[in-house]
Amino acid sequence: MIPVPFLKGKRVLVMGLGKSGTATSRALLAAGAGVMAWDDGEAARKTAAEAGIPIRDPALIPMEKADLLVWSPGIPHTHPQPHPVAEKARAAKVPLVCDVELLALAKAGARMLAVTGTNGKSTTTTLLAHVLDECGVPVAAGGNLGTPALDLPELPGDGRYVLELSSYQLELTNSLKLGVAILLNVTPDHLGRHGGMSGYIAAKRRVFDYLTPGGAAVIGIDDGPCRAIAAELSRLGVRVVKISVESVLSEGVSAPEGVLLDNAKPVCDLKAIPSLPGRHNWQNACAVYAAARAEGLAPKAIAAALATYPGLGHRQELVGSDHGIDWINDSKATNADAVEKALVCYDHVYWIAGGQAKEGGIASLEKHFGRIQHAFLIGEATESFAATLDGKVRFTRCATLDKAVAAARNLAVSDSIPGAVVLLSPACASWDQFKSFEHRGDTFRELVQAFTEGGGG
Ligand code: ADP
Repeated sequence: MIPVPFLKGKRVLVMGLGKSGTATSRALLAAGAGVMAWDDGEAARKTAAEAGIPIRDPALIPMEKADLLVWSPGIPHTHPQPHPVAEKARAAKVPLVCDVELLALAKAGARMLAVTGTNGKSTTTTLLAHVLDECGVPVAAGGNLGTPALDLPELPGDGRYVLELSSYQLELTNSLKLGVAILLNVTPDHLGRHGGMSGYIAAKRRVFDYLTPGGAAVIGIDDGPCRAIAAELSRLGVRVVKISVESVLSEGVSAPEGVLLDNAKPVCDLKAIPSLPGRHNWQNACAVYAAARAEGLAPKAIAAALATYPGLGHRQELVGSDHGIDWINDSKATNADAVEKALVCYDHVYWIAGGQAKEGGIASLEKHFGRIQHAFLIGEATESFAATLDGKVRFTRCATLDKAVAAARNLAVSDSIPGAVVLLSPACASWDQFKSFEHRGDTFRELVQAFTEGGGG
């Protein structure tokens, strides 16, 4: 836990009692702050109260009584309409921050690196932490995903905090000081909450406002918004390190063919790293390489560390092999865009998909339908997916994941195509049948391990 002694005796409102709000409340209580916490969900309130966190309804608290409001980034506070509690705090001039701001204040002077972007944040954050760790640098990683900011351990003076930051967290902090800021990519996502694309780009752009003088801005320049930000920062004299997986960069880090190039000179072959499949992961690896170089690590040491990355669960995670068929858990792929990233990595796919449908469906995947041997449909999306696949891809309605696993196994084993994979990449949220995408992926892993455990196949 990160101590926040400067909040001793302060009255602090905590909005949201998920992982980050709970960690914040605990840190505040340990510091001797007066905590008033709230979550609109009754279950979250009950769990927090049982853990000794004082619960108060913010609607009933005169805002003048609070010194600070710590907001959980998961709760929209500006769009589609201003949240009444946030409004009340603004009117009363109570500072509105998130837990990352408290970390920044508590650890002022500590070396921090941040990762943001629309996609690839978690992979890049864990990969960067892995590389630093392998190179002997004390490191702690967390933030938006994984360990909440205030649950991170205290590090020695030469340690590095690697923070995954969402656009919401970037809006709710002021005091961060970053040695390296990574912006991977910007594509339309979460537009509703930022009042459109320009608001979203501006929120991501903010990561560079926190760079210390001489700090490195690592930017993926394969999309228009990021290219524009890179050009603007270069004009301002910021130290920009460009990365690309589309073209070779004479200055910067690139990997258009899967070989990582530093100023166009080859460093290592990313295609040989099984835990980093696909072009999207090359982008993540380029960003990590650039950040690690900016931290003073040697190219060879970074390359060796990249090669031992164990991978992150639920993102094209190999969970077993049986009769020459690899079973891949990509439960995190909750929309068609993410599924596409996985589909393009394999030529013969037995595809398990479905769950709670998202807007847009799977029509955008049609150009890759040739890779799909057979689809196994589960959950609420079954009929809409069946309608899209009809006449183009053979499919079976399986209803549940266990039936889909059994049916996929039967067919894949009997077809016995070399290099075939069974891929759970649902293109859907998990809520209709599971608690979370992690729960769905863990269930899949258990079902697969039931027949692969003991070295089957
Ligand atoms: P985030 O934390 O930003 O949600 P993750 O690292 O958890 O990202 O990856 C989630 C999914 O996004 C992956 O399964 C993959 O399909 C896709 N993805 C990962 N990295 C990238 C990238 N650099 N560009 C585009 N898509 C990516």
